[in-house]
Amino acid sequence: MLVTSKELVEKAKAGNYAVGAFNAINMESAQSIFAAAEEEKAPFILQITATTLSYTAPDELVAMIKALIKRASVPVALHLDHGRDYQTVLKFLRFGFSSVMIDGSLQADGKSPRTYEENIEVTRKAAEAAHLLGVSVEGEIGRLGQIGLEITAEDEALTRPEEAEKFIKDTGVDLLAVSIGTHHGLFKGKPVIRHDRIKEIAETIPTPLVMHGGTGVPDEDVQKAISLGIRKVNIDTEIRVAFIETMKEEIKKLEDEHKKADETEGIRKYDIRKILKPCRESAKKAIAVKMRLFGSSGKA
Ligand SMILES: [Zn+2]
Repeated sequence: MLVTSKELVEKAKAGNYAVGAFNAINMESAQSIFAAAEEEKAPFILQITATTLSYTAPDELVAMIKALIKRASVPVALHLDHGRDYQTVLKFLRFGFSSVMIDGSLQADGKSPRTYEENIEVTRKAAEAAHLLGVSVEGEIGRLGQIGLEITAEDEALTRPEEAEKFIKDTGVDLLAVSIGTHHGLFKGKPVIRHDRIKEIAETIPTPLVMHGGTGVPDEDVQKAISLGIRKVNIDTEIRVAFIETMKEEIKKLEDEHKKADETEGIRKYDIRKILKPCRESAKKAIAVKMRLFGSSGKA
């Protein structure tokens, strides 16, 4: 059944666990997320970026995901990940999403930072529209690490508690993405998670907090962050890694089979499903591991 992210994270707060938010990029990854959630009996958030939606005709992917939601026995929120502007948010609202993120921390190019005032302006406007439709809203304050940048836990990039408090009052968002030392994508080195900062923010505001860039963060750091107030953890890269690494193995196997077929004058077989099925299975396993780590397994 389709619910809002707010409903899921409020429950998670009461139960002191976190809800996994997994990025779907195509049919197989969406299926792997739903399959993992069914097996784990875990509530979850299925999220999609605007870039993914433009990979297919938008209504194609959304129609398929809605069919999966209809059949799901666990509660699921359908969420826009990193909406950069008001227009994008409206577009996703029109597609019936139950949750949206308006990332006002960066300009629409996804690189240049917005000022605090600019962030407030775009976030408030998007939040007003979403709330009219009963859709929950995630905002972001602080600067999250990006692919290609050095790991930093410098204070100036981190979310400040007093700023977070003002931001919630100014915008009315239901969930808040915070900069606490995590990075998007894969990176070199070990992330320094600023648990002290998570604690300070959680003590200042009651809003459920979101960890972006959850891939590569050591399990014990994730669990500690959850115990301190993180209620939504975003996982994207880990799914891609599981999927593509298996794809590489399967293609290697197929190449060997073809070689053998050539040597014995047999026939080469080309079955895409034979490659994609194991990929879907590996992604499902990787997702299930995260659901257990977040404590959301068995909570549906
Ligand atoms: Zn993110």
